[in-house]
Amino acid sequence: MDRSDAERLDREDPLHRLGDLFGGKTRGIYLDGNSLGRPPAAVRAAVADATAEWERILVDGWEEWFDLPVEVGDRLGRLVGAGPGQIAVCDSTTVNLYKVVSAALAARPGRARIVGLAGDFPTDRYVLQGLAAGHGRELHLVAEADLEAAVDASTAVVCVSHVHFVTGRRIDAVRLIDVAHRHGALVVLDLAHSAGAVEVDLDAWDADLAVGCSYKYLNAGPGSPGWLYVNRRLHESLRQPIWGWFGQADQFAMAERYDPAAGIRSWLTGSPPILALRAVDAAVGVIEAAGAARLWARSAGLTGLLIDRARQRLEPLGVRVVTPADPARRGGHVALSHPEAWKWCRALVEQGRVIGDFRPPDVLRVAPVALYTSYVDCFDAVEAMADVLAGGFDGYEPRSRRVT
Ligand SMILES: *Cc1c(COP(=O)(O)O)cnc(C)c1O
Repeated sequence: MDRSDAERLDREDPLHRLGDLFGGKTRGIYLDGNSLGRPPAAVRAAVADATAEWERILVDGWEEWFDLPVEVGDRLGRLVGAGPGQIAVCDSTTVNLYKVVSAALAARPGRARIVGLAGDFPTDRYVLQGLAAGHGRELHLVAEADLEAAVDASTAVVCVSHVHFVTGRRIDAVRLIDVAHRHGALVVLDLAHSAGAVEVDLDAWDADLAVGCSYKYLNAGPGSPGWLYVNRRLHESLRQPIWGWFGQADQFAMAERYDPAAGIRSWLTGSPPILALRAVDAAVGVIEAAGAARLWARSAGLTGLLIDRARQRLEPLGVRVVTPADPARRGGHVALSHPEAWKWCRALVEQGRVIGDFRPPDVLRVAPVALYTSYVDCFDAVEAMADVLAGGFDGYEPRSRRVT
C-alpha cells in the first residue's frame, strides 16, 4: 500500500471528520490516547457548564448531583454491554479494584488462591498483593497461556486485564469466565485498556465484576474517575469493604449504623467528583454519537494498518511487532519492541514526529484512537518511526524522566 491508499480509507470513512471535535492538537502525531485521551470540545463545554451551575445553585445542586455516579454509569454501560443499575462511576480504578476484589474474596471464604497475570499492570498486582496479605490468601501470578489451567477449586478470584497494557494482547474473556464459573470462582476484569477501544459485552459474557478508567480511550480528562461493574445477580451476595456515607441506605438520616443502599449505589464511598462526572458524561456522549460498533471496527482498521506497515518498514530495521495480528486478540494500541525503544521514543517525541510512549523493558507503544486518529496519521507515523530509527539516536539520554 502507499499513502494514497491511506488517504482513500480516510475519505471513504464517515467517522474520519470526528477529529475536528477534539482539542489538544500536537506538532507530532498524537498516538498516546491509551495513556491520556485528547480533550473533546464537548468535555470543555460540559465542565464550563457544570462550573456555572455550581456558581448558580451552590449546595442545592446536590439534589440532582447525588444521582450522577449511577446515571453516568448507566450511560457508560451502553458502551460496554451493561444493563442499567450495574455500573457506578466513582473513585479511581485502583480503589475500585480494591473494592471489588475484596468483596469477591469475602464471598469465597474457604478458597486459598487469587489468580492473576504475571506482568499485569502494576496497580493491579499491588492491590492483589495487599489483599492477599490482608485476607490471608495466596497470590498466584501466571503467564497468560497458563491462566485457564491455573483455575481450580481452590481459586477464589481470577483478576486480569482484558487488554494487556504493554503487549496489547486481548484475552478471551468469555472462555476465562466460563472456566472460572465451572470451578466456582469469581472473575474481575480490568477494562482500562478496553473500554472505548474494543467491543466489551459484560452482560452477554456473564461477567461478574469489572473496573475501568475514563481518561484513556474515553477521553474524560487527566485523573477523571474510575468505574466499576457488579453484575446484578451478585448484588445481594457481595458487599464492598469501604462503608462510607454515599453507600448508605438513607444517607441523610445520618443513622448510627451502616446499612447499605440497594443495588449499585452501595458501591459508592464518599462525595463524587461532580465536575469530572460531567466530563465523563460528555465524553461518553461523543462515542455514543459516533456509534460504538463503528468505532471498534475503525480501531481495528487503524491498528491493522499500523501493524502491516510496521512489518514492512520497521521489521527490517530490527523492530519486532509484539501485538497480535488477529484483530480479535488485540486491543487499541500496537507494541513495537526494539533494544533502544526508550531513545527511539524520546527522539520521536522531541523531534515533533510521533507522540507515543515507552514501557520497560523495550517497548514503544503507539495507540491510534478511532475518534481522532486517521489512516494517514498511521501511515505517516510508521514512516517517521523508520526515519528516526535509520537516523540513530545520538544525543538522546538514557531514561531520565519520571513519566515515560
Ligand atoms: C491505567 C490503568 C489503571 C489506572 O488506575 P488508576 O487508579 O486510575 O491510576 C489501572 N489498571 C490498568 C490495567 C490500567 O491500564
